[in-house]
Amino acid sequence: MIFQHDIIIIGTGLAGLRAAVECTGQADVALVSKVYPTRSHSGAAQGGISASLGNDEEDHWEWHLFDTVKGSDYLGDQDAIEIMVKDAPRVIYELEHMGVPFSRTAEGKIAQRKFGGHTRDYGKGPVRRACYAADRTGRVVLDTLYDQCLRQRVKFYSEHYVLSLILEGDRYRGVVVYDLATGELHLLQAKAILLATGGCGKIYKTTSNSFASTGDGLALAYESGIPLEDMEFIQFHPTGLYPLGILVSEAARGEGGFLRNRLGERFMERYAPTVKDLAARDVVSRAIVTEIREGKGISGKDYVHLDLTHLGEEKILERLWEITSFVRIYLGVDPVYDPIPVQPTCHYVMGGIPTDVDGRVLKDEKGAVAQGLYASGECACVSVHGANRLGCNSLLDLLVFGRRSGLAMKKAIQQYQHTPLSGDPLKTLEERIKQLSNSSGKEKVDEIRRRMQSLMMDVGSVFRNEEGLKNGIEEIRSLKERYQKIRVTNPRKAFNYELMEAMELSHQLHLSEVILFSAFHRRESRGAHFREDFPGRADRYFLKHTLVFQTPKGPEIRYKPVKITRFQPETRVY
Ligand SMILES: Cc1cc2nc3c(=O)[nH]c(=O)nc-3n(C[C@H](O)[C@H](O)[C@H](O)COP(=O)(O)OP(=O)(O)OC[C@H]3O[C@@H](n4cnc5c(N)ncnc54)[C@H](O)[C@@H]3O)c2cc1C
Repeated sequence: MIFQHDIIIIGTGLAGLRAAVECTGQADVALVSKVYPTRSHSGAAQGGISASLGNDEEDHWEWHLFDTVKGSDYLGDQDAIEIMVKDAPRVIYELEHMGVPFSRTAEGKIAQRKFGGHTRDYGKGPVRRACYAADRTGRVVLDTLYDQCLRQRVKFYSEHYVLSLILEGDRYRGVVVYDLATGELHLLQAKAILLATGGCGKIYKTTSNSFASTGDGLALAYESGIPLEDMEFIQFHPTGLYPLGILVSEAARGEGGFLRNRLGERFMERYAPTVKDLAARDVVSRAIVTEIREGKGISGKDYVHLDLTHLGEEKILERLWEITSFVRIYLGVDPVYDPIPVQPTCHYVMGGIPTDVDGRVLKDEKGAVAQGLYASGECACVSVHGANRLGCNSLLDLLVFGRRSGLAMKKAIQQYQHTPLSGDPLKTLEERIKQLSNSSGKEKVDEIRRRMQSLMMDVGSVFRNEEGLKNGIEEIRSLKERYQKIRVTNPRKAFNYELMEAMELSHQLHLSEVILFSAFHRRESRGAHFREDFPGRADRYFLKHTLVFQTPKGPEIRYKPVKITRFQPETRVY
């Protein structure tokens, strides 16, 4: 079947929902999600949203700007960061007016807590900048925005998987979706398409991300000719529950928790003397892995302790209730009395689909705009996070740039009318699905995926080096060859997750190659990208954004300059 809408938004995380709220009413908007909308990963966000409200202590957007630029290891585009941090207080009050139940101070103001890398007065010590709702911030914002969409009768295509983008001439004109409930393919035609498909953490074995975070939107854009920007920068959050990788929010350290090694030492005092456990995530993750490598992991294993026991039961249960229950359920450990075993876990992709500050997708290093295509949220790279994202800046990014994308699309569609499509994209995809089911190959999706996830942990995580990256790229290429011989054995039409996972794996393999390829070519260490063979930052050669293009000969690399407006690169110490 063919359906027409003015605007199609793929993804019902905060970026997609916020964009929808902005453009519905004046345009016919449809939201598509492969999972039930409120199960999008944004709902798992625990810690908060950063904004310099200054409710508990003095704060300024200029300090927020400085911290974000420094956190990005000077790779973030400062014009975009300035837009984001200036808009932050407005974004929070807007959510408050929509009904988000933020935690409160004794005076009734929105409560704020400390988070890694957020400081007062340009680095003098931690500041309370994260607005939160206990440790369920993402959940309450997601539910509120979802309610707003229902109220405005936005059309939802729930449990519909987008298989491809339709590009005709130089304009994106729609998408093909696979309806999981019926197994049918539909064509959704649109005047503007927003990719808000989230991150790709599931490429790695240990991750805080949900099952849906397979990077589909990134790969769909890449396959259609759009480059991917700065994909070497993958954030490892310092505190994933050992050995599962489930997140223990930085809020735990923001509320006063700290890390200890086997000897009981608060080792972050050595790595970041000023802000200690509240240094930026790349710094803390490297410190943990270094301690483990030096044999100071707990009982000689691959983890350290996160100690909250001194905070007291009341504070722990009031502010960190959800993560406390996770730790109790999954590990049988009670954080009120015992330290939590933690290890770094793959958390966030700083890179993504290049966009301008209004969500327009950019096709090349000169900034040519892809007609009809927009991107926002974790799948996009504006770039406000550069080489390392600060905690609580992602939700802010989604809300600020989600809204701006909505505004831009609303305006842009006024100039366009629907016209019939020339090709038959449904047929091409039907053939591809048939091929997967009728293939005579013997390869299995889960075996290839497991190998990819372990490999990415081994060569593309906290520490990297030339040899590992080179071998990793070769092995991903051989996994891609094996992928050509996979067979989907589940014959059912309805809820054929095996088929969907086969599609996802093809995307994940592309992205793994791009990540390793970008990392291989960046011969320096910056933010989350640490090269053991090039341990220093090399601004002279690498103060620039990576762009990787898909070509028939494989990935091709180009670069574009970083936008620096206020803060020249300095040595980054915490
Ligand atoms: C456990 C955890 C805690 C976090 N805590 C915080 C925090 O406290 N503060 C903060 O700032 N950041 C936090 N982050 C980061 C932040 O939550 C994410 O970056 C953000 O939620 C991503 O939102 P999004 O709207 O881009 O996408 P998501 O919320 O990931 O949603 C992606 C959407 O795209 C849809 N989709 C994807 N592919 C397809 C496809 N092919 N077809 C159809 N639909 C598709 C999915 O169904 C889903 O609806 C946290 C992340 C995690 C994992």
